[in-house]
Amino acid sequence: MGRLATLCGDNRQSLEHAQQILDDIEELSTTVLVSIKQMLGGKIDTAGLDGIQIISYEIAMLHAEIFAARSIHEYAVTCCDDGQAQFETQLACCCIAEVIGKTRARLEKIKFEINIGEESLREVFDSAHVRAFSRAYLDPAAIADTGRQALARIGFGRSQLDDEKEIIAANFARFSNDIVAPLAEKIHRDDLTVPETILTPLREMGCFGLSIPERYGGTSPDAGEDHLAMVVVTQELSRASLAAAGSLITRPEIMAKAIYHGGTEAQRAQWLPRIARGDPLCAIAITEPDAGSDVAAMRFKASPTTGGWRLNGAKTWSTFAGKSGILLVLARTDPDLSLRHRGLSLFIVEKPTTEDKEFSFSQDDGGKLTGAAIPTIGYRGMHSFTLFFDDWFVPAENLIGGDDAKGKGFYLTMKAFAGGRLQTAARANGLMRAAFEEAVRYAQERHVFGQALSAYQLTLAKIAQMAWNLRACHEMTYKVARLMDAGTGQLEASLVKLHACRAAESVTREAVQIHGAMGYSEETPVSRYYVDARVLSIFEGAEETLALKVVAKELISNAAA
Ligand SMILES: Cc1cc2nc3c(=O)[nH]c(=O)nc-3n(C[C@H](O)[C@H](O)[C@H](O)COP(=O)(O)OP(=O)(O)OC[C@H]3O[C@@H](n4cnc5c(N)ncnc54)[C@H](O)[C@@H]3O)c2cc1C
Repeated sequence: MGRLATLCGDNRQSLEHAQQILDDIEELSTTVLVSIKQMLGGKIDTAGLDGIQIISYEIAMLHAEIFAARSIHEYAVTCCDDGQAQFETQLACCCIAEVIGKTRARLEKIKFEINIGEESLREVFDSAHVRAFSRAYLDPAAIADTGRQALARIGFGRSQLDDEKEIIAANFARFSNDIVAPLAEKIHRDDLTVPETILTPLREMGCFGLSIPERYGGTSPDAGEDHLAMVVVTQELSRASLAAAGSLITRPEIMAKAIYHGGTEAQRAQWLPRIARGDPLCAIAITEPDAGSDVAAMRFKASPTTGGWRLNGAKTWSTFAGKSGILLVLARTDPDLSLRHRGLSLFIVEKPTTEDKEFSFSQDDGGKLTGAAIPTIGYRGMHSFTLFFDDWFVPAENLIGGDDAKGKGFYLTMKAFAGGRLQTAARANGLMRAAFEEAVRYAQERHVFGQALSAYQLTLAKIAQMAWNLRACHEMTYKVARLMDAGTGQLEASLVKLHACRAAESVTREAVQIHGAMGYSEETPVSRYYVDARVLSIFEGAEETLALKVVAKELISNAAA
């Protein structure tokens, strides 16, 4: 405890040390980016980037970790003058000490390729102040003490929200606890469809219109977007159930953004108020059996016909496609495959709704749409469908943006997905929170070798790590929401998605582990949290694609010598 007492004695001093270390790591990573850009001869194209995938991946993940460390650090600084100072400083500094180790390991892995000498690494990572900092905050006693304090503070943390957002959070927390939580296990275990007992009140609470401006019937201010409200609501709902509550917002979020940014005024006026009311519910149909991450490779066809378009082909993994009345479908309106992403357009496709896991609908003029739900290990409640379109007719007015927007579907999809990434991070946060709370409860109740699990150093270390992951992801998410409200934050949305989804896997894994065999039983919710968390790194931008094709590409492109 001696070392801890010395360094933690002055919270501000510890946080200043941390800041300096993060600055140094970031400076080194800037040098690394410049060196990578030089390696590529300044030409940032797919062939070049594919040749350095491992390097790019490590760089993207490193930047996500630094962003996490900066976020928890900033929060701790804001707590410096209140009663939380000691705990929040310790939590942030333990997190940062872990990040120091991780970032070093990432750079060690790629140092031979990127022309960064041992000396530069040692200068940053073996300096006296890094060694002192790491010794203090990787100290088992410091980590156990952090875990002990986290245990005592379930619901820890000072609110960063204004009164309005606090009210929103409280309302949705109540709904989550009273309505969603009692149904969540049954929906998961019996693979049910989200019931109207959840959907109807959510419609009334404005849940589907969170990203839609007030003038179109939503709750987002007309003057600008309100991502923070969306994050707050998502977190609270995901705490009770990822699939049967928290993810209900994802589809209207993506669809409304596509229509708002890319639609004609008539399309906005027609569809946004309806989406905001949750009538109809909507689903997204981008992925195809032979093209997921590689959106530009999609082949699904839209062919012109009198008064509109005929859709032909297969889409897959379209979540909630059964219960939804409209689908956002990305289709190739130009048959020339060499156009890649420039040949794609977006459609609003109307269909009848059903709760069945298999369906087949016909149009009077012969169009047919069939769907079948894909069995999944988790994320149950909405069901993800494979869809087959056979000459399905869509009227001309349902091409988003009209004829002028033909070929712009890819860009609109990407824009709409940025909000989806932030929302996915918020979903991860809700899930982590639920897993953390269950783990803490169980660790205190369960006795092994004569003591509560929570009395042991190793359990306390797990609790501490869960707590700092949760805190860091929370703070990153709020930060990105505010950036996006200000019209920026696209790169940060990808960073928080990368980091929070990984963190959710780790936190839910530890929650299962703390439960021992009970964690593997379907009788405890942590097993659901674990399988649910696994999907987060796959959808809304699979981890590798996001890291390589979005984050690393942008970081390397922007590197300035
Ligand atoms: C539960 C669930 C719900 C979903 N809901 C929807 C939905 O509502 N609507 C919808 O349209 N889609 C949905 N999806 C699909 C999801 O968006 C895709 O799974 C995702 O885009 C990845 O595509 P893929 O599965 O085809 O993987 P692939 O593209 O085949 O990739 C396979 C793996 O390879 C990695 N990879 C890809 N490219 C590269 C590369 N160049 N180098 C190295 N590695 C690479 C990927 O990251 C991934 O790990 C859902 C998926 C799931 C599991």
